[in-house]
Amino acid sequence: MKTYDWIVIGNGLAGATLSYELAKLGVSVLLIDDGNLDSATRCSYGGIAYWSGTDPITKELCYQGIERHRQLSDELDTTTEFRELDLLLTFAPDVEGATLAEQYSRFEIAPQMISSQTAQELEPQLNIDAIGGAFTVKHGHVNPIKTLEAFNQAFRKLGGQQLLASVTGLVCLKNRVTGITTPTQAYAAGNVVVAAGGYSRHLLKRSHLSVPLYHTHAEIVASSNIEHSLRALIMPAVANRFDAEATASAPATDSLWDGPPHEIAPPILDTGVIQFLDGTTYIGQISRFRTDLDASSIDVAQSESRMRQGITAQLPCLTHVPGHWRHCLVTFSRDGLPLIGPLPDIEGVHLFSGFTSPFAMLLPIAQRFAQWISQEKPSDSLIDAMLVQRFTQTN
Ligand SMILES: Cc1cc2nc3c(=O)[nH]c(=O)nc-3n(C[C@H](O)[C@H](O)[C@H](O)COP(=O)(O)OP(=O)(O)OC[C@H]3O[C@@H](n4cnc5c(N)ncnc54)[C@H](O)[C@@H]3O)c2cc1C
Repeated sequence: MKTYDWIVIGNGLAGATLSYELAKLGVSVLLIDDGNLDSATRCSYGGIAYWSGTDPITKELCYQGIERHRQLSDELDTTTEFRELDLLLTFAPDVEGATLAEQYSRFEIAPQMISSQTAQELEPQLNIDAIGGAFTVKHGHVNPIKTLEAFNQAFRKLGGQQLLASVTGLVCLKNRVTGITTPTQAYAAGNVVVAAGGYSRHLLKRSHLSVPLYHTHAEIVASSNIEHSLRALIMPAVANRFDAEATASAPATDSLWDGPPHEIAPPILDTGVIQFLDGTTYIGQISRFRTDLDASSIDVAQSESRMRQGITAQLPCLTHVPGHWRHCLVTFSRDGLPLIGPLPDIEGVHLFSGFTSPFAMLLPIAQRFAQWISQEKPSDSLIDAMLVQRFTQTN
């Protein structure tokens, strides 16, 4: 049996970028994905918030990330459909915009508050009566599926191998992981990276490994047939998701995530919409904080109706557009940073997950992480800040 230098589990943005960066270093890599078409990456808006750095590390990562996106289509020799568009962070008429301005002033490039009339100049379909105003900033944008395909194609050109299979477990010999199993076969590797997004915690738990990773069940309405064209990416100025993520990942909830199915926080709606260059439009998003992976109890009709009502108040042109409900898991960590690096007390397995809003910063992180894990793990303050051990040492 061939022994790969690296097996990467999960072909979302995290696994696709990391496998490409590893292959660039000349090592043998097998990238395995179960082919779930509703991954977080495939349901994503694809927005690149390169303006959102708040400290030296995130500012540097955002800078490197957007520079990389600007030339990525050339590097990978396939288009990612990169562009820059106007982000409109809208707020309701009864919200005092000035109170939000301070919150936005902490970002390296602070979104500017504009009136509803100015917002309508940027997005002519906007109903100005439905909003009190908006914050706006230039936002990077790619087509997430095209970006995945571009990374995968470049990976294969470098000799990387892709396999469509569900990983059922890790092969462990004493305290070392030596490969993975699928329903039909085992594959051997010097090292395994778990980049399975919202499924990472569950997958590791099967091998009795525990990591402080959490997930939301995210829902969108996807439409491929809209006659109106939208110019801006619209999201709420007050995103409820991040506060709810903090509540759901508080240390006191940890036992709930390992117990029977439980709803840790009520579902939230963050109204938003993005139209891709081919006209495909995603309307979102509901986030649910259910600890299990099962979405069968969700009332799809009710969810879809909530998301449609939210967006059609702002964009009446989207009333009655055809569309279908989609669901995915989005992973996150307790402090908003990714969770990467070796797991404690076991060798040969690494985590590369916990990316909540990765399009801005993931590319430079994957590049540095690939170099870091392939070498003698030189000290790197950026990598150190994201290592799994930041939680396990204090637990
Ligand atoms: C509606 C919405 C909008 C978003 N908008 C943005 C945005 O504008 N900007 C931004 O930066 N982020 C955005 N995000 C978040 C972003 O999309 C995700 O955080 C990111 O794509 C996660 O990537 P990932 O590779 O970690 O996980 P995923 O994309 O979920 O990939 C994990 C992969 O692992 C596979 N897998 C799981 N288990 C196994 C197994 N046992 N065996 C084999 N394969 C397995 C899955 O099928 C999947 O393909 C958005 C998310 C949503 C839901």
